[in-house]
Formats: sequence, C-alpha cells, structure tokens
Amino acid sequence: MKLLSIASEVFPLVKTGGLADVAGALPAALSRYGIETRTLLPGYRGVMARVGKARPVHQWANLFGGPARLHALATDGLDLLVLDAPHLFDRPGGPYADENGRDHADNWMRFAAFSRAAADIAAGALAAFVPDIVQAHDWQAALALAYMKYDGCRTPGVITIHNLAFQGQFGLDVFPALGLPPEAAGIDGVEYYGGVGFLKAGMNAARAITTVSPTYASEIRTPSFGMGLEGLVNARADVLHGIVNGIDTEHWNPAADPHIPSSFSASSLKARARNRAALEERFGLTPDGMIIAIVSRLTWQKGMDVLAGALDTLVGAGIRFAVLGSGEPMIESAFLAAAARHRGRIGVATGYNEPLAHLIQAGADAVLVPSRFEPCGLTQLYGLRYGCVPIVARTGGLADTVIDANDAAVAAGVATGFLFSPLDHGTLVRAVLDAARLHRDPRLWAGLQKQGMKSDLGWGRSARRYAELFTTLAKAA
Ligand code: ADP
Repeated sequence: MKLLSIASEVFPLVKTGGLADVAGALPAALSRYGIETRTLLPGYRGVMARVGKARPVHQWANLFGGPARLHALATDGLDLLVLDAPHLFDRPGGPYADENGRDHADNWMRFAAFSRAAADIAAGALAAFVPDIVQAHDWQAALALAYMKYDGCRTPGVITIHNLAFQGQFGLDVFPALGLPPEAAGIDGVEYYGGVGFLKAGMNAARAITTVSPTYASEIRTPSFGMGLEGLVNARADVLHGIVNGIDTEHWNPAADPHIPSSFSASSLKARARNRAALEERFGLTPDGMIIAIVSRLTWQKGMDVLAGALDTLVGAGIRFAVLGSGEPMIESAFLAAAARHRGRIGVATGYNEPLAHLIQAGADAVLVPSRFEPCGLTQLYGLRYGCVPIVARTGGLADTVIDANDAAVAAGVATGFLFSPLDHGTLVRAVLDAARLHRDPRLWAGLQKQGMKSDLGWGRSARRYAELFTTLAKAA
C-alpha cells in the first residue's frame, strides 16, 4: 500500500516541534506493515540545499503565482517529495515565521500551494507513485483533503491533528485565491467563524481524523480543549481515533547516543554521573541538589509562565534547573532573569539545540512538563527512555504515558513519574517537592528510572493502529 504523508516539517531536515519527529519516524515503522510512504515537504531554503541538482519529477508552470517543481529525495531513511517553489519557500527565517519571529504574511498561500500540490499527487500527477491513502498532518497540510474532495478524488484522506490550537485561520478575502469551487465557501467546506479555516476544512473532508493520544481525543470534544472546533469534533466522533505517538528509539538511545559523553542503560545507571557532570558544567550549576530539566517551547500552552513564577520557591528548596527553550519573549525574559538571580542554581540556554536536548535528558534527574494542554508530548517520552523521570501535568498524552508514583504504584513497582493537576503554583510546587522527597531515596529513585526505561516507547503498537486504519480505509474506497 502506498501512503502520501504531507508534513510541513520532518526530522532531521526541518523541525520546530513534535510534528517533525513523528513525520520523520512513522514511515520506517509503517514499512513493517507493508506501507510504502513518500513524504511531501516544502522546499525551504535549508531543505533545497540537500536536493542539489536532481531532475524534477513533476513541474507546475504556475502554482500560486510562480513556477514550481517537485523533486524526489531519498535521505535519512526517508523517501521525500520536495516542493520547490522559490516564490513561497526560498526565504530566510523558519518554516512559518521570519527571522524576527513574525508569521510570514502569505502563510495561507504557501500552505494552500503545498496542499494543492499534494492533491495533484493524490490525483496521479506522478505515474510512479499514485497513493492509496493520504495522511495530512496539521493545518499546513489540511487543505489537501479539501482540494481532493472538491476535485472528486476518491483516494481516502486522513487528517492527523498534532495540536488543535494551531488551526490556520485566515480572512474570507483569501477564499477566491484558493482555487476551490464556490460551494466550498460554506459551513461544510472551509468557512469558519466568518473566515477560512484550513484545519476545519481538512477535518470536514477527511475520511478519518486522528490525534496523538486517546486522552487528547476525548479532551478535544469539550469546550475547554476544543478551541472552538469541539462541535465539529463531536459531529465526527465516529471517525475520531486517538493514537499515541512513539519515539525513534534508535535516535534516542542512551546506550548509543553520540551527543552524550557516557552511554548507559537501565543496568548501568551509575554511568549517568558523567553526563550529569557535563550538564552541570554546560549550565554552570554548582554541585548539590536535584537537577530538573526543561526542554520546551517557553509558552503559555506549556505552563512555562506558572513555572517561571515558581522558580524562586523551588530554588529555595534546593532544586536546580537546566532549561533549554525559546518562545514567548515575556516568558523567556522571566527565565533569564531567574537565572541571573540564581546563578549556579538555574542555567538557561535559549534557541534550538538538538544535541543539548540529548545531554539534558541523559544528565538531569527529572524532566518537568507542566502543560496546560498537551496533545501527546515527546519530551516526557525521551525522559522515560533516558532515566530522566518525568514530572508532568495530568492532561492529554502526558496522562497516557506516565504512571504516577502514588504509594500503591510505588509499592507495586509500576510507577514511572509524577502526575499533577490542576496546573497552578501550589500543585506544581507540591509535585516537584514530592519528587524531590523520593529523589532523596536512591533505591526508590532508581526503581522509577528503571521502570520508565522499560516502558514500551517505540512506534510498534501505534504504527500497527495507523496501518490497520489505513488498510480499512483503502479497502473501503
Ligand atoms: P511541541 O511539538 O508541542 O513543541 P513535543 O513535546 O511534542 O512538543 O515535541 C517537542 C520536541 O521538540 C521534542 O523533540 C523536544 O526535544 C524538542 N525541543 C523543544 N524545544 C527544543 C529546543 N529548544 N532545542 C532542542 N529541541 C527542542
């Protein structure tokens, strides 16, 4: 079976968050079920540098205002189709925003064009690869399913929602330029609260909707998590599936990780000490005390404002912090100010740094993920894999992947971390102090680490669920 996966970021070529990790790892996992994946990716400047002078496999004379070419690229175990459209993607900055962090003003057009190209591939533009199924990831790819529907393309399409907070909403004035028929302007098409909603359009047109954990799949049916789309989610609940993300256990393997000074496994946890020392040195931390890691976007969603407000209290209780992240300027400044107040106890690295993310997970004692909502979350999974015990808010995929160290779970030896709710100053501080209390008992703590490292974190089970869904849909088409 042939799958066209449409993703605006794919690890290791371009990554701003979990979507890239998933889009990068799922193809190999699906191949075990006989699914051959090609992934369509925009030809951002950094991606085109990898393509070189390859001959295009398809061309458009005019794709939303300029010529475009499609290149096939096999790299890092992935079969990519790269959409080279210089007028849309050859520019400085990130995939979605310019160098100053402002969204590109023409994002609606960039990702409409990307989606249009995907729909053309679904319709057979590449004789050598006609997909049996299409998986569109997030709003940037969602419009592909709407194009397919209004083209009359019968290939089944699945929308996978990595975060319902990002919906791709634009003014109704962009509608005429999308190239959809007039009837698509209605409520059953792209219309969304008086504007155009890309994600909404994809959810309407999709044969199935998946999201990245069972708990998030139920949460988004409620107004608190549905972000205005709960009505549509409920209307389509019969085709909604929550499938928890796996991780790439080869890339994230503490026993063979080129980014860390000392390899280790569950049976050689003492070898973590060298990584811990390297982490202390990297962040200028003075010895003594538990080290809590943050590897995160520093945003409201991630609860980073609440954590920033709790740092003084927690440092006062002897906790140290190693923080890697970037995000909302106010929150970033709050972390930097706390680091200046508590030199040697809080270290902050801003920006994006993949190798450092590995060292942090390999050397810190615990990783804190205090999200307000979290569709799946990957940092806690990397923490589990690296013996860096997760302390997480009880929401979404965090609740599905961490087993709370309550007395019964500790006694039974099944606990893997700490869960707390609701997210506020008091509960957050209590959860961290509870963890610190257990951390003072090395035998208990090692038990938590080992149990976490035993968790089934790979893609096996989840890839199988995707494969079953894709097979059922393809058969029914
Ligand atoms: P989200 O996609 O909402 O940002 P996830 O937990 O699903 O959150 O995925 C975050 C991914 O990004 C993880 O792979 C994490 O290690 C990585 N990450 C986040 N911030 C940074 C950073 N500053 N440097 C390196 N990796 C980061």
